[in-house]
Amino acid sequence: MKYTDTRDKKVSVDFRTAVLNGMNAETGGLYMPTEFPRLENSFLERNPEPSFREIAYEMAKPYVENEIPDTDLESIIQDCYPFSSKVVPIDPVTYVLELFHGPTCAFKDFGARFMARVMSYFNRSENDNLHILVATSGDTGSAVGSAFHNVPGIDVTILYPDGKISPLQEKQLSTFTGNVRALKVKGTFDDCQKLVKTAFTDKDLRSKFRLSSANSINISRLLPQSFYYMYSSLVVKKRIPFDSKNGGDAIIVVVPSGNFGNLTSGLIAREMGAPITGFVAATNSNHTVPDWIASGEYKTRPSVPTLSNAMDVGAPSNYERIDAMYSLDQVRNLFASYWTDDEGTIDGIKRCKNKTGYVIDPHGAVAWKAWNDIRGGEMEKLVNGQKNDFTKPGLTPNVPFWAKAVVDKKASAIILETAHPAKFGATVYKAIGQEPALPERLEKVVSLPDNAIPMGKDYDSFKEWLVSNL
Ligand SMILES: *Cc1c(COP(=O)(O)O)cnc(C)c1O
Repeated sequence: MKYTDTRDKKVSVDFRTAVLNGMNAETGGLYMPTEFPRLENSFLERNPEPSFREIAYEMAKPYVENEIPDTDLESIIQDCYPFSSKVVPIDPVTYVLELFHGPTCAFKDFGARFMARVMSYFNRSENDNLHILVATSGDTGSAVGSAFHNVPGIDVTILYPDGKISPLQEKQLSTFTGNVRALKVKGTFDDCQKLVKTAFTDKDLRSKFRLSSANSINISRLLPQSFYYMYSSLVVKKRIPFDSKNGGDAIIVVVPSGNFGNLTSGLIAREMGAPITGFVAATNSNHTVPDWIASGEYKTRPSVPTLSNAMDVGAPSNYERIDAMYSLDQVRNLFASYWTDDEGTIDGIKRCKNKTGYVIDPHGAVAWKAWNDIRGGEMEKLVNGQKNDFTKPGLTPNVPFWAKAVVDKKASAIILETAHPAKFGATVYKAIGQEPALPERLEKVVSLPDNAIPMGKDYDSFKEWLVSNL
């Protein structure tokens, strides 16, 4: 497979280069595979459907062809995924896709573990250490730290906005030792992301150190996230005739989004043959992408803090990839887009519990609320020409091609539950008066000492620290 660049279509590099560079320092663009090969129908239609790991292997194969032999790929996949994603039906037309069964209890484990193993595979023959810089708005840091911890030849520096993530999230990323360290930056997530991006385009720094990224801009994090879209849509497709009895087979995937890496992975899965009809791009008050879909104008803005803080992104990196894959008209046709504020998020957790019994986290709640509104009449209003003011919470005015399936009650939804609700216990408690129990693997980190290093948001102090510590 060859990889091109969102800013320069003439770029053509192999997988190794795309993975180790993270982004193209020359253009500032993001790497993209030149094609998304469709899986064989015989595989997609197999009965019973293939397992998560079989799907992971088949989907990864074309992207690493000629660079990672099949048997090595097989062991990488085995090692990445001792856990899987789980499809949980919560009502006759709604499935929650639980993505929190990995070591850090968030969906980012799926991407980070694959990336870590692929990077260490490609780094085997190098003498120098590879330095990973990663900005996090919450869960990336712990997933990446956990995925790389004790991987030889690689070290990781995590940047997070001081005071803007939950105490548990902070514990999860500041308590590593050895090759993984955390910097708590006096600023926002966007400041952290800017420091990392500036470092990557700093020729002087790059001449001294081998740097790489681990944000969702790295293509090796994005590709593996497509596995669970394929897996869940195949599972749900088989279940629909038994669960919904509505005679419709439209499958809508609702994605709580921040940097839009997860949603981009969904687009890749759909291109590869996943039976996904359309998507809902659901955000919190950081609604840069819904605004773009509504107005046609893409305007980044400073991020604002919300209860679903892993989605507090004002300048979503993967917009650039979505824009490279589809025209705005295609996006408006394929996506519904929706945003809600903190009040809506609390309401989502509460109503989801009351209606279905399912305890959802604040990120998943944004998605559930989007779906609940969409199938509860909001899409019908839109189809009938009643358009929402997109500066207020709710659906943007575009009518996707699958809108009629929803109105005719011939659609089912997969809600991505991106984190375990216990990671956001205080918010869940506020909504339903009950705090979910902490899984054992989270309980362990709470008692570890915090090793984070304080850091300003100016590039000079960051660079100085890197030069003396890498
Ligand atoms: C990172 C994250 C998101 C947002 O995913 P993107 O790929 O950045 O859009 C949503 N929920 C949780 C829990 C996350 O950690």
